[in-house]
Amino acid sequence: MEELKADSPKDFIRTIVAHDVETKKFDAEVRTRFPPEPNGYLHIGHAKSMCLNFGVAEEFPGGLCNLRFDDTNPTKENVEYVASIQADVQWLGFDWGSRLYYASDYFERLYDYAVFLIKQGQAYVDSLNADQIREHRGTLTEPGTPSPFRTRSIEENLDLFARMRAGEFPDGAHVLRAKIDMASPNINLRDPILYRIRRAHHHRTGDAWCMYPNYDFAHPLSDSIESITHSLCTLEFEDHRPLYDWVLNACQVERHSQQIEFARLNLTYTLMSKRKLLELVEEGHVSGWDDPRLPTLMGLRRRGYTPESIRAFCDHIGVAKRDSTTEMKLLEHFIREDLNRRAMRVMAVLRPLRLVIENYPEGQVEELMAVNNPEDPTMGKRTVPFSRVLYIEQDDFREDPPKKFFRLAPGQEVRLRYAYIIKCTQVIKDSATGEIQEVHCTYDPETRSGGPQASRKVKGTLHWVSAEHAIQAEVRLYDHLFLVPDPGNDKGGKDYRDHLNPHSMERLSQCYVEPSLGQAKADQHFQFERQGYFCADSVDSSEGRLVFNRTVALRDSWSKIEKEK
Ligand code: ATP
Ligand code: MG
Repeated sequence: MEELKADSPKDFIRTIVAHDVETKKFDAEVRTRFPPEPNGYLHIGHAKSMCLNFGVAEEFPGGLCNLRFDDTNPTKENVEYVASIQADVQWLGFDWGSRLYYASDYFERLYDYAVFLIKQGQAYVDSLNADQIREHRGTLTEPGTPSPFRTRSIEENLDLFARMRAGEFPDGAHVLRAKIDMASPNINLRDPILYRIRRAHHHRTGDAWCMYPNYDFAHPLSDSIESITHSLCTLEFEDHRPLYDWVLNACQVERHSQQIEFARLNLTYTLMSKRKLLELVEEGHVSGWDDPRLPTLMGLRRRGYTPESIRAFCDHIGVAKRDSTTEMKLLEHFIREDLNRRAMRVMAVLRPLRLVIENYPEGQVEELMAVNNPEDPTMGKRTVPFSRVLYIEQDDFREDPPKKFFRLAPGQEVRLRYAYIIKCTQVIKDSATGEIQEVHCTYDPETRSGGPQASRKVKGTLHWVSAEHAIQAEVRLYDHLFLVPDPGNDKGGKDYRDHLNPHSMERLSQCYVEPSLGQAKADQHFQFERQGYFCADSVDSSEGRLVFNRTVALRDSWSKIEKEK
């Protein structure tokens, strides 16, 4: 197993920050921000960004991380997302204290900065339409051509910009552009647009504005206003960094944050694009943003993922400068590790087969001791009722067993977990269909734990529940949402929807769980012995209806991951 990175600068970003702190580059304490755009729910990729931003801040003396809603694009944003994002950040275990900010709170100051740029001759109002601006922009190999409006006087620009704000022009009539360099090899510097007229209702500023700043203008200035020292963002902004710096220099700000880019998280068998996640939800391919098959934090939570496991995963993958894709199996490894330590072991039969113990007295019930978690003795013990008629898994019985089938078969012995050794005596079938209806066996009373033959060895141990005492439940088993590792980038040009896995959810409605699960709460985690880790579904469980989600199957994935490498 790969050495888990412990302390000491574990990535290039922390190395840079440590160096900046040492050399007192900023004359201020480390300040980072997590800047989600409220246009969707957070997913595991955002978790990586949060772990980095909040993590870096925590690790340096006096360091703090702000939560900032990057709400400059009103057409896709709304308050539903604002609320859910805050809940998700908190759930993951991060605290922004009193530092909750909105880029929209800076609209007035951003406007002033724009006016300042105009006065400096570094911004102008362009009246070309969108198509013309695109044509003038040039290509990667050809320089752009200046707009005929580039030479407008400062007075005219100030007048037009004020009238843009006042609502005198229709959408698209004018834009404000930075005056940089139409021949720059970096297209981002070819007089980028700073403001667009767009009559859209904003979830915070209402109709106060009919024009909105672009990300490339609003982001660096928001960082500066909040005294952010290190503005950590994903790799696609690398080519925007010269513009980030240009904006801060041209606006002559006091505090110039350092933008540093890192690789996004990509995970196999899923998607991280907010647009596609929205489509999956809106088109009904999943039940909602909290569908347990989605990589959203709400989905993962409902599936049974713990914040600790997600943070441990993010910590392990670290941050790098090059794009890569992480195996879903690795994420699964971290939830198994976490739940192995904390989940209560219980017995549940997912595909029940009736088992009658012929020599067990009718009406007798024994309360047998069961260990709650062998990994953690402090979790104690509980009792499980045992009686004459039980359920076992259909899979645990074979009438005609192959070699090395160490479960139940005619004439074969197995141990029932926490109970007795039984021997199969008879198979009862439906005379018409030949289907197995129940299995009969005898038990050996001496083999109960604590009894004289308690230690007698047999090859298999089965889980079970008492038919009379068990509670009926629905169990949902999940598989990957997509059939291929990279559904978003099909080499043959297929749509990601074509790769949806039709069997990503299997519903088993006739399951039986031990009575202790009658009290199961949504935030409780269980290991169903021999089956995997489960949690009660927070949405569909109710009084009298128990629904469990399988978080992950039981499997030592680690050795497999290593082997496949
Ligand atoms: P959009 O395309 O809407 O901008 P986005 O995925 O960048 O989508 P944001 O809400 O802007 O979403 O993201 C907030 C922060 O999370 C940003 O700093 C962004 O870089 C980071 N982030 C988003 N997706 C990932 C990812 N897959 N891995 C790491 N960080 C991410
Ligand atoms: Mg973004």
